[in-house]
Amino acid sequence: MKRSRWLLAGPALALALLAGACGDDQNPALDNGGGGATTTEAKKAAPKFDAGTTMDTLQKKGSIVVGVKFDQPGFGQNNPTTGKVEGFDVEIAKLIAAGIFGGDADDAESKIQFKESVSKNREPFIQNGEVDLVIATYTINDTRKQVVDFAGPYFVAEQDIMVKKDDNTIKSVNDLNGKKVCTAKGSTSEKNLRAKAANADVTLFDTYSQCAEALTDGRVVAVTTDNTILAGLVQASNGAFKLVKAPFSDEPYGIGLKKGDDAFRDFLNDRLEEIFDNGEWAEAFEETLGKIGLDTPEPPKIDRYTSAGGATGTTGAGGSATTTSTTAKP
Ligand code: GLU
Repeated sequence: MKRSRWLLAGPALALALLAGACGDDQNPALDNGGGGATTTEAKKAAPKFDAGTTMDTLQKKGSIVVGVKFDQPGFGQNNPTTGKVEGFDVEIAKLIAAGIFGGDADDAESKIQFKESVSKNREPFIQNGEVDLVIATYTINDTRKQVVDFAGPYFVAEQDIMVKKDDNTIKSVNDLNGKKVCTAKGSTSEKNLRAKAANADVTLFDTYSQCAEALTDGRVVAVTTDNTILAGLVQASNGAFKLVKAPFSDEPYGIGLKKGDDAFRDFLNDRLEEIFDNGEWAEAFEETLGKIGLDTPEPPKIDRYTSAGGATGTTGAGGSATTTSTTAKP
């Protein structure tokens, strides 16, 4: 992905101008430390981490395993032509990896092994050590915090409903009662649906792309999950589906990591704040979700919670932490 420099703002821009005024040779520290805010093509050096930290271990190993979705346009989708997985979550993974291995997001890509994760296997993958991180439209909530930890949020979605384009009978979550509705196993979408439309006739699959197929052939009349995931499926349907636009939960997305690794969580939160501030987060958004028509929101506020289950938001029936962060409205 080509990364431009015009996104630099405030202190980063001032540093870049300063670096330019001083001459690059005279101030190499600024070249390497300004998050790309330089007048040369100098690459950001690999940082030095305390021995024994997860960041140090990963850096020495030279690779990181990240669980992402493979079938969600805009967030994590396997491109059969290139053989690469693409989307906003994938870009966040690259930016995190660049913070560990140095260089930029494109350099860091070669250090990442992307492992397909579906909704229900995200916690086990982290607990078993099959992945180092999960970045997969993964809602932060207190139930999940019992077994994993989260950095972030780095985005806040809302649960919504997708129907066929000529269906005008479903206008809100209440209208799902008595209807055949599809969502994914192990998701907050399932829990929220059961809490808000107790009489819905629920079909569960491992993935939302399977739900989209069920909507196409009439096995269900609606699919419910996060509005951003649905926006990608609507776009991929070439006009066959539409979003109802009746959101009924907040879904703050976090980076899942092994429970109790506080140094790693601090690093991830620091790195997220860095990419929020230096424009790389917004650029990643524009080049992925922006291309399916979503406006770039303000980055959310990082939640540096201190104890398990100690979310600053409240927990709804689906275990969804509610936050006040800005949400993109597709
Ligand atoms: N964000 C929700 C969750 O983490 C729904 C999307 C998904 O299943 O990936 O459960």
